[in-house]
Amino acid sequence: MRCIDIHTHLGTPGSVPSPGEMATMMRLAKRQGIERVVALGNLGSDGPTPTQDQIRAINDNTLAAMRAHPAFFAGFCYLNPAHDAAFSLGEIERCVVRGGMRGLKFWIAVRATDRCHDPLMDRARELGIPILYHAWYKQTDQGAGESTPAEIADLARRFPQVTIVMAHLTGDGERGVLDILECPNVLIDTSGGQPESGLVEYAVRRLDAERVIYGSDWPIRDFAVQVARVVDARLTGAQREQVLFRNAQRILGSA
Ligand SMILES: [Zn+2]
Repeated sequence: MRCIDIHTHLGTPGSVPSPGEMATMMRLAKRQGIERVVALGNLGSDGPTPTQDQIRAINDNTLAAMRAHPAFFAGFCYLNPAHDAAFSLGEIERCVVRGGMRGLKFWIAVRATDRCHDPLMDRARELGIPILYHAWYKQTDQGAGESTPAEIADLARRFPQVTIVMAHLTGDGERGVLDILECPNVLIDTSGGQPESGLVEYAVRRLDAERVIYGSDWPIRDFAVQVARVVDARLTGAQREQVLFRNAQRILGSA
């Protein structure tokens, strides 16, 4: 069973990933059959609205991991879209065009409906790269810049040629799946909280296996449980392969 993890973080806040940290991550991933991971940048230790210096440092860490283990780490360029577009476009140039990263990552700096995304989405379309965007429906304490799935769907409708991976199936729930139903350019990743019985099956039934993609959110969640939520879901072998491997292979290019 081949597997690519579309949603991981380098766990050490604000510092270059140590050889020990990377070795632990690779050992635990490979034990679950994960051959490659997408590193989205450090966890949110710099807060929801990182400065330009912090963004640069986070992307430097991802580039360092890619250099150390090119067969294992693919990188996405982490951006705070509230910054000057010239800065963010420069980071895309540095990290994607010259550095070999495969996509962009947006978190909770501003809502996905904000027009400050437009130049960055245009550039993603030109480069033919996907973006991965955090989303969650919260009962309380939705962050000021934290997007709901409905807001991701709004962005997806405005940029139908850009592939968007909407994060956190468990945080998005059935309502989130329904929000993106009519947006064929949006996939949903299986991460977010602990598995809920039947939810992966629901997403596959409504969206098709081609739009559901395995992600763990390591190191907040461990690989074993996150892989098991797909392996133990009532899917056909072909659907499981699609979710665990083929969708990531497709949107990462040659992976
Ligand atoms: Zn994450």
